[in-house]
Amino acid sequence: MDFKRCRLLILLLVVVSSGCALLEPPPQPILPTFEPPPTVDGDSVDFEALGENAPEVGNIAFTVDPDIAALLNNISRQNLFAYVRALESFGTRHTLSPTEPATFGIGAARRWIYDELTRVGSDRLDVRIEEFPLTYAGVSTTQQNIIATLPGEGSHPGIIVVMAHYDSRSENPDDGQSPAPGANDNASGVAALIEIARLLSTRTWQQTIVFAFLAAEEQGTFGSLHLVQDLLLDGRIVDLGINNDIVGGRPGIPQSIRVFAPGPENSAHIQMARYLDMIAAMYSPMFTVEIQQAPDREGRYGDHREFLNAGIPAVRLTESVEDPGAQHNERDTSDRLDYEYLVQVVRLNVAALANMAGAPPAPVPPTVAPMANAGSYLLTWPTDERAAGYAVIARPVGSFQAEMRFVTASEAGNVAIAGLDPAQIYNISLAALDQRGRIGLYSPEAIIGGQPGEGSDLDTSDTITETGSN
Ligand SMILES: [Zn+2]
Repeated sequence: MDFKRCRLLILLLVVVSSGCALLEPPPQPILPTFEPPPTVDGDSVDFEALGENAPEVGNIAFTVDPDIAALLNNISRQNLFAYVRALESFGTRHTLSPTEPATFGIGAARRWIYDELTRVGSDRLDVRIEEFPLTYAGVSTTQQNIIATLPGEGSHPGIIVVMAHYDSRSENPDDGQSPAPGANDNASGVAALIEIARLLSTRTWQQTIVFAFLAAEEQGTFGSLHLVQDLLLDGRIVDLGINNDIVGGRPGIPQSIRVFAPGPENSAHIQMARYLDMIAAMYSPMFTVEIQQAPDREGRYGDHREFLNAGIPAVRLTESVEDPGAQHNERDTSDRLDYEYLVQVVRLNVAALANMAGAPPAPVPPTVAPMANAGSYLLTWPTDERAAGYAVIARPVGSFQAEMRFVTASEAGNVAIAGLDPAQIYNISLAALDQRGRIGLYSPEAIIGGQPGEGSDLDTSDTITETGSN
């Protein structure tokens, strides 16, 4: 099911800090006790005006962090073009292509990726080769994932994985010799990932980010499967996976990105897609997120499916409109892509990763109790000393549009939210903010309003398709 594109509504509504305990009668009437926090209209953000000397912004609203804006202003279109051209130059990156030649085949391609990551990583990236055996079409090979880790310096227990497959294929899926330039599928995703890694490794973050350059996707997401198994066997907690696959765009297609995430509409995957939508509204308002409530395009798959199969929140980013005539053949060449579009994809990734890895972790969902006034609810949750404030996000059931209200840390944890439509069922989630206006991942949602149980019986029919190829 495709939902109409939604924009996050950041409204100046008042949240009232409530001193009451749960068992006491709710206070009456509800009175605002502080001024509404400053907010930023995402459509009016002037990136050129921001920078090192930007004025102080409100410390309890989601707002553009000047340091993140500076990172976004350093995205290099020239780098992206050069990366795609370099990957294309190996002729083919097919899983069964030669590994020994210096300038042809998958071996040359993966050595180039490794060297490039080592070069751009500001001495912060830990770049490793993870090997796994693969027998495909009767041929036994050793495949290599290239895993670059940017260690976080905070206490987040979970890691973030952002991934792209680097292998390519031609029309015959078993053909390791024919031209398979794979510029859009998926040199675009690899180029984006190298550029994202270059930019993010110039800073330190609270949370560890893993950049995964994955092998053997075209034969069945084998590289991703190996990575997920490794992470879980190592006891790593994986908070989420973001897959960039076919993100190169081309002139004339809509300036938006499809974010595939399986439902139901309150799934952790859809939560992740909505988070990206919110980030886009703030940091790339001219490049919008189209949430697709599905694991992938019909009959197709990608590396994020191994994360989904393991129960890890994951999404796939893919260009707004694909050109099937230029996939898995010699026509998927670097001259067809739109490098300004690819810049926008990098912008969304960097802004999202910088917010989630810089801000405090996702809170637990609030406990909700109705108050005497219709449309008023008391929310309670354990606060985190790392948070400067919280966003309370109210989303009507059946819509991806949400309303966001803010409370400071000193007022958080026991909050009355008023003025909601009493007839409407809402999903309520929380996100923690830091002093710089960076926002962390959403908590799971709690349902309020309507009749008890109503709204919880959502569509769960989505399944992950196993046919076709990415
Ligand atoms: Zn692909």
